[in-house]
Amino acid sequence: MTFYCFENARTSEQLAEMRRLDAAGICLFCPEVLAQHARQQILFQTRHWTATPNEFPYPGTRLHLLLVPDQHAADLLDLTEEVRQDFWLALAAVSEKHQLSHYGLGVRNGDCRFTGATIAHVHAHVLVGDTQAADAPPVRMRFSSHPGSRDRSSPYQPRSA
Ligand SMILES: [Zn+2]
Repeated sequence: MTFYCFENARTSEQLAEMRRLDAAGICLFCPEVLAQHARQQILFQTRHWTATPNEFPYPGTRLHLLLVPDQHAADLLDLTEEVRQDFWLALAAVSEKHQLSHYGLGVRNGDCRFTGATIAHVHAHVLVGDTQAADAPPVRMRFSSHPGSRDRSSPYQPRSA
């Protein structure tokens, strides 16, 4: 049993990191791991959620944060009511701290083999495109994946999962 969906990795660095965590049998987004991870900075925490930068930000973003619940679950709907309610406070805190006038919000739920997610611990992406750079690509988020097939729009093609 693994916490990771290797076929959805977007860079070789990300894949290597996923393999390292998988070999150690740990979930990166469970709170005790997240708190001690060398490269995963913790920006702030609410009662049940942690805000951290995406270590592998999507192309075209000027801000790419993740909101991660302390509770390990693969679907927002599997979180307890209290954790679910606290999400809105965490999102409001991100918006306020970064003075956001626009942003995207994306969450992949359920079996990560099919959603494009890399990890089976639900998390919300807060995405802000770079509106200053004229050549910045539009921010895209993939929400489906066919196990074993290649994503032709991705520059990085993992050899095998
Ligand atoms: Zn976890």
